[in-house]
Amino acid sequence: MAVALTWLTHIVDAVLPPRCIACAQPIDGAASGAVWCALCAEQLEPAPALGSYCYVGPLADAIVRAKVGRDAAVARALASWWARSAAPTLPRHAAITFVPAPWRRRLARGFDLPALLATALGDVDGAPPVVELLVARRHDTKLALARSREERQALVAGRFAARRTRALAGLAGSVVLVVDDVHTTGATLGAACAVLAEAGVRPVPWAMAVTPSSS
Ligand SMILES: [Zn+2]
Repeated sequence: MAVALTWLTHIVDAVLPPRCIACAQPIDGAASGAVWCALCAEQLEPAPALGSYCYVGPLADAIVRAKVGRDAAVARALASWWARSAAPTLPRHAAITFVPAPWRRRLARGFDLPALLATALGDVDGAPPVVELLVARRHDTKLALARSREERQALVAGRFAARRTRALAGLAGSVVLVVDDVHTTGATLGAACAVLAEAGVRPVPWAMAVTPSSS
């Protein structure tokens, strides 16, 4: 039954116009690859730094649908939209990596949004390769509740380790883009970048969405 329903969903999706990934309204007369309706597209706010958008309005809604609602189709649509939009703004880099989620969370959700973002960026013409340079060592559930920057920094210390691979050794001294989905206090991206810097590469943090309180 579940399989039949999945097929039915695919058939219906193929026939009906695509739907906005934030408000789920049909996107009429959309250019191919459009993921936002006109109303939501108007409300996207580019962030001043990090080649990102503000984590408000439709973008926040779509990220919640992807991550909390575990909607892989929305996650993939977000990734391809962001890659097309971010690619022209990126600094020169030798490789792309991402902030990994702990495997338990990856398993529960079925996908890892930062990994999808990095992969989509790597699929853009002429982009450098995507390499997994980090491993998540542990997941602290208190992190989601931590309010202050200091609190988060203390919790994320030791959360990542570098994968001591040939790929990492080959990138010594090179600029590596470190992709994350949401940049909140900077503690997570900062911890990931610190581990990579210590391993000898030059990390450049890059997030799709930045919360208004980020600095
Ligand atoms: Zn919309």
